[in-house]
Amino acid sequence: MTTPTIELKPSANLVTDAERDRILAKPGFGRYFTDHMVTVKWTEGLGWHDAELVPYAPLSIDPANMTLHYAQTIFEGLKAYRQADGSVATFRPEENARRFQRSARRMAMPELPVETFLAAVDALVTQDSAWVPPTGEESLYLRPFMFATEVGVGVRPANEFLFMVIASPAGAYFSGGVKPVSVWLSEEYVRAAPGGTGEAKAGGNYASSLIAQAEATKHGCDQVVWLDAIERRWVEEMGTNNLFFVYGDRLMTPELSGSLLAGVTRDSVLRIAADLGYEVSEGRISVEEWRRGCQDGTITEVFACGTAAVITPVATIRSVGGGWTVGGGEPGEITMKLRKALLELQTGAAADAHGWMHRIV
Ligand SMILES: *Cc1c(COP(=O)(O)O)cnc(C)c1O
Repeated sequence: MTTPTIELKPSANLVTDAERDRILAKPGFGRYFTDHMVTVKWTEGLGWHDAELVPYAPLSIDPANMTLHYAQTIFEGLKAYRQADGSVATFRPEENARRFQRSARRMAMPELPVETFLAAVDALVTQDSAWVPPTGEESLYLRPFMFATEVGVGVRPANEFLFMVIASPAGAYFSGGVKPVSVWLSEEYVRAAPGGTGEAKAGGNYASSLIAQAEATKHGCDQVVWLDAIERRWVEEMGTNNLFFVYGDRLMTPELSGSLLAGVTRDSVLRIAADLGYEVSEGRISVEEWRRGCQDGTITEVFACGTAAVITPVATIRSVGGGWTVGGGEPGEITMKLRKALLELQTGAAADAHGWMHRIV
C-alpha cells in the first residue's frame, strides 16, 4: 500500500487570536473547529493519493453521493492533550488507527495505512497546535473519518472514498465536578447483533441508537444502556462508552462478544487497574445480576469509560421493570482513583510506563 506524504496548504485567513481565545475560554464539545483539515483520497486502482492539509471548509456533495444513501462511513475519536511540560501528545493513536482499519474492513471500505492515519493526525495537530487548550482535562478532540464519494445509487461498495481529519477544542467534560449519571436499560431497541456492525465505528450504528437515547431522556435518564440482541439480558455498553462493574477490589467488564465496540479507554482501564493491584476480568453480567449485586452490596461501583468523558460514574438504573441505585449513588472511590490515574497519564502528570503517549509538538 502507498503512504502518501501530506502536502501542507495552510490557510491565509486564520481565526484571530482574540476569537480563538474566546472559543477556548468555553469550548463545550464538538461545536467549534480549528483552522485546518486533512483530506486523503482513495480511488480504486490508484489507492491512496492527494494527501493535503487545507483550510477548514465545507465540501460540495453530489445529491447521488453514495454515503448519503447507504451510509458507507466510519469514524474515530481521540484527543490531543497539552502535557505538563507544555508539549502536545495524543493517547495511543495507533490503537485508533488499527480500529479504523477494522471498521473499514467490516464496511467493505479501503484500509488506510496506520502511518497515514498517524501522519494526518500529527499534521493537523502540529498546524493547529494553538487550538490545544492550555491545561488539565481540556483537550483538542480529533475526528478522523472516511466516507464514500462515488456518485451513483447502485447498492455496492463504492470505488472512491475520502479520508479526513478535523479537530475541535473540548472543555472538561465535567466542568462542575464529576457527576454520576442515570441510565435507562433499552429493552425494546438494540444497538448491535451478532454478525452485525457493532464492533465497527460506523455511522449507521449511531443513527439507529438515537431513538433509544431519546427514550432514555424521556424517562429522565442521562444515558442508554445496551443489552444483547438475542436475550435482552446481558449488559453490553452505555451510549458510546464501555462499562465496568466493581466488586470490592475486583473489576469486571463485558467481554468483546462481537457486538461491543472495543474501546481504547476500556483496554487502558483494564491495564491501569491491574497495575494498581486490582483483579480484572472480562466476562458476562446479566441485568438480574447487576440489580441483585447492587442490592446485596457485592457490586460496589459501576462506571463507564470512553475517550470523550474518560470515566463516568453510574449511579442509578431505570427500566420498564423498575430501578435501583449503585452504592450510595455517589462517585465510587475506585472509579475516581482510576479516573485520576488515567487523566494524569494523558496529561503527562504521571510517568508513561506503557509508552502510550505519542508526542507531536
Ligand atoms: C467510541 C465508542 C466507545 C469508546 O471507545 P474509546 O476508544 O474508549 O473512545 C465505546 N462504545 C461505543 C459504542 C463507541 O462508539
